[in-house]
Formats: sequence, C-alpha cells, structure tokens
Amino acid sequence: MRLTRLPTSLRFRQCWTNEPLSLPVSNLCAEALASGRSPGYYMDLISLSLTELRQALRQGQTTSVAATQAILDRIVAVDNQVQSYLTIADELALEQAAAADARRQQGEDTPLLGIPVAVKDVICTEGVETTAGSQILSGYIPPYDAFVVQQLKQAGAVIMGKTNTDEFAMGSSTENSAYFTTHNPWDLTRVPGGSSGGSAAAVAARMAFAALGTDTGGSVRQPAALCNLVGLRPTYGRVSRWGVIAYASSLDQVSMFGRTVADCAAIFQVTAGYDRRDSTSIDTPVPDYEAALTGDIRGLRVGVPEEYFGAGLQPAVAAAVLAAIEQLAALGAEVMPVSLPHTKYALPAYYLIAPAEASANLARYDGVRFGPRLLGADVIGTLKQTRSLFGAEAKRRIMLGTYALSAGYYDAYYGRALKVRSLIKQDFQTAFQQVDIIAAPTSPTTAFKIGEKVDDPLSMYLADILTLPLNLSASCGLSVPCGFDEQKLPIGLQLMGDTLQEMTILNAAYAYEQTTPWHQMTAPL
Ligand code: GLN
Repeated sequence: MRLTRLPTSLRFRQCWTNEPLSLPVSNLCAEALASGRSPGYYMDLISLSLTELRQALRQGQTTSVAATQAILDRIVAVDNQVQSYLTIADELALEQAAAADARRQQGEDTPLLGIPVAVKDVICTEGVETTAGSQILSGYIPPYDAFVVQQLKQAGAVIMGKTNTDEFAMGSSTENSAYFTTHNPWDLTRVPGGSSGGSAAAVAARMAFAALGTDTGGSVRQPAALCNLVGLRPTYGRVSRWGVIAYASSLDQVSMFGRTVADCAAIFQVTAGYDRRDSTSIDTPVPDYEAALTGDIRGLRVGVPEEYFGAGLQPAVAAAVLAAIEQLAALGAEVMPVSLPHTKYALPAYYLIAPAEASANLARYDGVRFGPRLLGADVIGTLKQTRSLFGAEAKRRIMLGTYALSAGYYDAYYGRALKVRSLIKQDFQTAFQQVDIIAAPTSPTTAFKIGEKVDDPLSMYLADILTLPLNLSASCGLSVPCGFDEQKLPIGLQLMGDTLQEMTILNAAYAYEQTTPWHQMTAPL
C-alpha cells in the first residue's frame, strides 16, 4: 500500500478525493486483503465496548497501538461501503497511540488513555482539515483544537479522524454533505441519520469506540436511534462550544455517541466542564457521571407526553417505545402522563430561529478569512463567486434566515418564534415539576432510504420533530436502543431530563439497558 507522507502539520488523508484509501494496514490485514479474504481477525478487539477496552488496556491485555491499528484495518475493510470518515488522521493516531502506551508503561492512567475515538467534522482539530462538510471550508486547517478536542487529548484519547456531516450540520441524513453520503451500517441502502451521521455510522460499524457529534435539533439523538447507539445531548452550556463551527449558536451543543450508556458517560465525563472562552458555558462542578450509573430507578417519576405519539409515528416505533416504558415501570419507575402542549409549534419555531442564527454565522465565509477563494472581476464578484460554494441547503437557510430577520418581518417571524420558544421552555419546566424524566420516541421512523427525502426539504425537517423541542428548551436528552422494526432496523427510546440532570437520564437509560438485549445487537456488516 502506498503511503504518502504529508508535512508534519498536515498529516491526514482526505477520503473524498478519488484516490483509493491508502492506510498503513497491519501485516495480517495486508495478507488477508491480498488473498481476497475479509480481514476479520481484529473482531475480538473492535467488538469491545469503550469501557471494556479501557479495562483491557489497564490490565495490560492489549495496547493502544494494537487497538488503533485494528480500527485502521477495520476502516480499510468497511469504510469504502459505509463512508463515515471525511478525513483519517492515521499517522497522528498511531503516534498518539504509541505515546499513550508509553505513558501507561510509566504507570500513568487517564480516563481515555489510548482509546480510539472519532470527531465530527464541524469540530476544529489542530493541523487536521476541518470542512464542516462544506466546499466553502475545503482545505481549511484549524490552527487550534476545540475545547472538547483538547479535553479528549488530555484524557489520553486517540483521535482517528473527522467524520462526515451534513453541510454545517444542516440536515438529518448526511445527504447534505458536499462530499458524499454516509450509509447506515444496518442497511447500506439507508441513511444513518444526521447531521452527525458519519460519527454514528463509524461507531456502529466499529470504526471508533465512541465519537463526538453536535446536536442542534436532534443531530446526535436521531442518528443514535437509527444506528442502535446511545446518543447523549447534554444541557446547553454543559460542554463548551469553543472551537465548534457555529450553525445556530443558541441551540448548538457538542454531544456524544457510545455503544453503551457507560461508554457515553465516559466520553461525556471528560468533555463536560466550564470553559471561560464560551460565554454560555455553565460554571458548576462536574459530577461523577460514571459512578452515578447504579441501575436503581425505583421511585423515579417518568412522564409520557401524548403529543409525542401522534400521526406519522411508525407503528413499530410506537410499540417498541411503549414496551420500553413498561420495562421502566417494571424496574420500579412510576409512569404517568404528562403534557407538552406547544410541541406542534416547535418545528416552525425551530426553522425560523435556526436559519436566522445560521444566516448570521455563515456570513463570515467570504473567501477572505477561511477556505478557498474564487476570484471574480472585483471584490463583490469574488464574494459572490466564493459563496457559490455553499450547497443548496445552506443557501436555502441563509435566505430563510435573512428574510426572517429583515426589517418589517422581524417581529412577525423571528420575534414570534422566540415567543413560541418561551412557551415550549415553559412546557418542559411545568412537566419537570411533576416528573423526573420524560420518555418518548427519538425518531418518528426507523432509517429511511437514501434519496427518499432529498427533494423534499419539509419531509426531511420532520425527521427531527421529536428531538428539536428539547433543544428549544435547553435541557438534556438521550437516545438508547429499544428494539427493531420488521426490517431489523433499530429503534431508539428518548429520555429527556431537566437542566443539568444528565445523571438522572443516564442512570435511567443504564437501568433499561442492563435489563434488555438491544444494545448488544451489532450491525451485520
Ligand atoms: N435536522 C436539523 C436541522 O437540519 C437538526 C440538525 C442538527 O441538530 N445539527 O437543522
């Protein structure tokens, strides 16, 4: 295999060029590939959960270099089909792995020491290209790491690369990526969800032990549901947004994927915390989320909102979620109805607020400061040329948002949407006076076919109808595997909690997970 060396600051490879992937594969993998076999020898290692790998590393049963090489071999074997990574930082990853092994030899131990993880391509990584899934940022190499990447590195994690995303995180399927569409490892003809679909597919297909995404309206919970993963969207401000490419700043939140609740808690643990560089960062101590996973939910009050079980909900999804709620009751939770009456206004309010903020945030891409510049006849011409690099969805939202913010329409659209947002927030506040958590479906349907909704933005927007009310309310939520439909496609149970109540929802999900088999099912790939 050919291995081109890039300058030290540019050691990554882009998966979206037409060149075949050329990664440094292990001898075993090379042998298998040469003889036409599938290099499945590494399955033992990559089948471990993050917490199991951590245990194995601590006990000296394996090394970070072995785990990282196994992940690289796995990427070579399956990512041509799944297409989850936009960029693979193989050399850097192997270096980080070797450094982690050396530290461990010295007796050091940090929470994620030597564990390979993936990062969504809207999160800045020093020296590794970060495109936000857009042509307008192709070739952009951030000079710094986002707060969350700094935290991951400090915890000892190995960063495998950058995962595919809808352009600027706008979408629900990764089909809005300017580079390619990611395929769902459970059925390659279907979407993995989005916008963090690359991260979800990478974890589900065992090409990372956990991954970071962002959830502005559901972009981690929805793909988690579609790929049989645990996806946590922490409270707004609990995890710093510093170094995260902004889409809709009042809604954006770094969020995470794990194969289990404990895995998700482990990666959340190291990324949560105060950061003075993010003015919305919450300055309260970070509890021990992992230690909070007791599995005891006796007396927990679980609210079930009837508004989340309306028309458009796939019958298999409704059945699986109701069965999951019964299971929570069987574990000692007290289940009761709860009402979130303004739920139906969440979608229109979100699609005014998010594009309005996006139109302001995307104004900075002008060909002067970041990414490529396409020269025109004069300054305006250059600006216009360069901004033609935005994809259709980004342009649609810039126009929508600019319109909603324009003088004369501001009050009627943006101002009104803000009022609706307050009502939705109030709904949640009232509900959380009666119950500890709210249980509902995560996505109205299981994974849909690639191409099914691309020409119909409205039907695509509906994919997040059950996740985006929570973003408007700024509280926390997660999705945990809770069954499969007739076509063996995964279904997710959504658990929502009050501000900073991540411990409560994680523990409820843990209790559920420990007594059900769903999370153990793996994609057939
Ligand atoms: N699908 C929603 C949107 O397109 C949510 C995206 C997200 O959470 N990043 O805006």
